Amino acid sequence: MSGAPVSTVGSSPSGCQDLPVLKERGQREVFCGLTGIIWLHRKMQDAFFLIVGSRTCAHLMQSAAGVMIFAEPRFGTAIMEEKDLAGMADMHEELDRVVGRLLSRRPDIRTLFLVGSCPSEVIKLDLAKAAERLGTIHAPRVRVLSYSGSGIETTFTEGEDTCLTAMVPELPEAPADERSLLVVGTMADVVEDQMRRIFDALEVGPVHFFPPRSTETLPPVGPGTRVLMAQPWVNETMAALRKRGAVRIPAPYPFGVEGSLAWIMAAAEAWSVPRDRVLEVTARARERGTAALARYRETLEGKRIFFFPDSQIEIPLARFLRRELGMRPVEVGTPFLHREHMGAELDLLPADDGLVLSEGQDVERQLDRAFAAGPDITVCGLGLANPLEARGMTTKWAIELVFTPIHGFDQAGDLAELFARPLRRRGLLEV
Ligand code: SF4
Repeated sequence: MSGAPVSTVGSSPSGCQDLPVLKERGQREVFCGLTGIIWLHRKMQDAFFLIVGSRTCAHLMQSAAGVMIFAEPRFGTAIMEEKDLAGMADMHEELDRVVGRLLSRRPDIRTLFLVGSCPSEVIKLDLAKAAERLGTIHAPRVRVLSYSGSGIETTFTEGEDTCLTAMVPELPEAPADERSLLVVGTMADVVEDQMRRIFDALEVGPVHFFPPRSTETLPPVGPGTRVLMAQPWVNETMAALRKRGAVRIPAPYPFGVEGSLAWIMAAAEAWSVPRDRVLEVTARARERGTAALARYRETLEGKRIFFFPDSQIEIPLARFLRRELGMRPVEVGTPFLHREHMGAELDLLPADDGLVLSEGQDVERQLDRAFAAGPDITVCGLGLANPLEARGMTTKWAIELVFTPIHGFDQAGDLAELFARPLRRRGLLEV
C-alpha cells in the first residue's frame, strides 16, 4: 500500500496533558464575536445578519471584512442613535420597521439573525423577544433568530458558537434509529466537498455539515448523531447538541496531514471502517499534503513561535507546526481551554522543555514574556501586530488563520505558507 507517512515525528505519549496551565484574567486584546459574521455569512447563503449596534460595530465589520463589494450584502448594522440609547425612542418599533423594510426588499433571505452588540446589551434590549415577535410576523417565509456577538459576552470566534447554539433548537429531530455524522463548525465549501468525497468513499454517513450552506435544509439531530468538531470553538454548540442526544467523537482537529488523517480516522472507527481502508482512500491526498509541507520545512524548521490568545485554534496549530514542520512553540496562549474538546490535541503536542501553555490574557505581562522570549514569529491579533513589528518582531495576524481555508490535506501547504511568508519577508528585509 502506498501513501504518505501517517506521522512525521512519531507519537508523543505524554504530550501536554500534565503541563501546568498559566491562567491569566487581566486586560485582553481580542476582537468581539461580531467578527464571526465574516465567515458565517459566506457559508449560509440565504441568511442575513442584522447587527443591532453602534457606528463602532459597523466600522469594525467594515474593516474586518476588508474591501468587499456586494450587489446584495448579507450583513448590515441597524445603528442605534443617541436617542435610542437614552431610551427616548421605542427600539422595538424601530427594529420592526427596519426588518420589515429589509425583508420586503430581499425575498432571498430565509433566516434573519438579530445580532446583539455591546450597546444593545447595555440598554438591555431583549433581542430574543424581538426575534420571537418578528418570527411570528414573517413566518413561514423567514425564520428569525437572535444571538450575542457583543464584546462583553464573546470573543472573536465565540460569535460562531453563539450563532450555532441559537440554531440548535431549530434542527429537525433525526429518526431514533438513524446513525449519521454531523460535522460542526464552518469549513470553506471547497474543504467540505473534499471531506464529503472521503467520507463517501469510506461509506461513513449520511454526512451533514453544520452550519449548512442553505438554512432551508437544516441537518437533523438525535441520539444516532455522531459529531466531529471541525472548529475548536463550537463548545456551547456541542453542549446543546448533546442535550439533543448527539455524541461527540473525540478527535484532534483537521489541520495538517496528521491532524486531518486522525480526524477522519476517528469517524471511520465509529463506523467500524478498517484503518487500512482509510489509509488507502486518503493515500493520494496525504502524499500531496506531505509533498507540499516538505517545501516549507527548510524555512520553518527550528523556528521559535509565540501564540497570543485569539481564536482558540492556537493549540491545534502549535501541534501541527511542531510535529509536521519542526517548529518550536515557546508559548501557546488560548482564550479558553476546554480540556475535553482539546484532549486529543494536548496528547499530541509535545511538552518541550520551557513550553508555556496559557489561558486567558493579561496583555502587558504576556507582552513582557514575548519580548523576553524573542521568538522568530509571533501570532497575534491586529491590535498587537503593528506595535510588535515596530519593535522588530515578525508577526502573523491570527485573523488570517481563521479567514483562510486551512483544514484538510490539500490545504496543509497553504497553512504552512501562512507562517513561512512573514519569515521570508523578514529575511528579505534583513538582506
Ligand atoms: S459589539 Fe462591542 S466590542 Fe464589538 S464592535 Fe460593537 S461596541 Fe465594539
